[in-house]
Amino acid sequence: MKICFAASECYPFVKTGGLGDVIGSLPKSISEENNRKKSREKNDVRIIIPLYKGIKTLEYDIKCLDEFGDIALKIGDKDVSFRIWNGKLPGTKIEVYFIDCPVYFHREMPYTNDPDEDERFILFQMAVIETLQRLKWAPDVIHCNDWQTGLIPVFLKTTYKWDKLFENTSVFLSIHNIGYQGRFSERSVYNAGLSYNDYYNGGPYELDGAFCFLKCGILYSEIVSTVSPTYSREIQTSEFGAGLENVLQVRKDDLYGVLNGIDTNIWNPKKDKYIPYHYSRKEIENKLKCKKELLKEAELEFDEEVPVIGIISRFAAQKGLELLVPVINDLLNLPLKLIVLGSGEERMEDFFEKLTFSFPHKVNAYIGYNNRLAHYITAGSDIFLMPSVYEPCGLNQMYSLNYGTVPVVRKTGGLADTVRDFHEYGKAGNGFSFDAQSPYALYDTVVRALDTYSDKKTWREIMLRGMKEDFSWKHSAKEYTVLYKKAIEKKKGLA
Ligand code: ADP
Repeated sequence: MKICFAASECYPFVKTGGLGDVIGSLPKSISEENNRKKSREKNDVRIIIPLYKGIKTLEYDIKCLDEFGDIALKIGDKDVSFRIWNGKLPGTKIEVYFIDCPVYFHREMPYTNDPDEDERFILFQMAVIETLQRLKWAPDVIHCNDWQTGLIPVFLKTTYKWDKLFENTSVFLSIHNIGYQGRFSERSVYNAGLSYNDYYNGGPYELDGAFCFLKCGILYSEIVSTVSPTYSREIQTSEFGAGLENVLQVRKDDLYGVLNGIDTNIWNPKKDKYIPYHYSRKEIENKLKCKKELLKEAELEFDEEVPVIGIISRFAAQKGLELLVPVINDLLNLPLKLIVLGSGEERMEDFFEKLTFSFPHKVNAYIGYNNRLAHYITAGSDIFLMPSVYEPCGLNQMYSLNYGTVPVVRKTGGLADTVRDFHEYGKAGNGFSFDAQSPYALYDTVVRALDTYSDKKTWREIMLRGMKEDFSWKHSAKEYTVLYKKAIEKKKGLA
């Protein structure tokens, strides 16, 4: 099969969250999938992302494909051009193509609140198709991801319908977070060069008076997936659907939940290049040394008996960290240390900064983005806290489980699919979870975890169970392969 991933992030080139991790790892597993089965047919997997200002072209040997020159496009009234750059996903033979359009992508961050945010990703999506044309490469499946790629299936069925190259190309859309939908004004329909007939009068492009890229993706793709089975059910309800629940219900027969995997070459305590000591289930003692180093770095006192709670998160309402606010004083009366890494909403940045100031012997918060520290905290903490309001999949709890860092989570989305509450599941439990979106439920659950921590033997059993979980992409890659075939059949009108 020929599969093209189109996305707005791909680790290690650019990452702001889980999407970057997924696009940096799932394609590897898909390309290995047929090799694993010793099939004669090899999967040809390629990736297309924007060439943001921050991408280190020299470090990753990314070069401009001069033969294609400047490719001109019209975005609304603007004449814009882009170039195609090319490199390999590090450690693999996977081709990555980069859309180089400095007027749109040389900004401080990959995502902006600038008034031309729609234009940036309209350009990107058209450029994905134009790149495939230049390469004369027709994928069997374009695997789109989130709203930044939601118009690709629309363009294939309208603007680029004339091109026979894509006659058999199907589109598979993965929703990584329904909270981000790419809703723009009706002017964007013009910018995208699409027809207002499909916007007005309840047309498929429109949602609550906005031009919604994600809605387009959901309606125009052959198959739609999201990143965990529980979340695929949740988003069909008004509580979690963020206004798209009815649209998703229309596609419910083509909607699947495939749990994300993790890149076990990068997130693996046996070989993690960022942590001071390596460890495994058999040699778990070194985890304690990681804890010591982490506390040293955080300028907090080490005490084996006092557990370290780690948080690594975007500070967004979705992550539920506000639940901590009413109970933080009670929590900090308990024997624990808190180490936080994150950035985002100013309110939460201030909250954690003030905590560090008020409780210098118990709390250290690092406000910002720091990949190395994320690995350090994952390895050196005893407990990982993730009280999300909603969580499409969540990667940090899976990393934590594999690092013997016991997760305390709210039971939602992918957290519900990966963390089994110790009290509910007894000898099968691998963490702690709570249902209610309430500060007291969070508090009680942390207390339960701390009580269990003091029982060393039981705690060790919970840690070891987490470390044994297999979150590698193997299983999910198989599921995706089956679903890609479904998408291809649908495109051919066979399903
Ligand atoms: P989301 O995609 O909603 O942010 P996930 O749990 O799926 O949440 O993935 C988050 C990813 O981003 C993880 O790899 C996590 O380690 C990383 N991450 C989040 N915040 C930071 C930060 N401040 N510094 C470094 N890595 C971070």
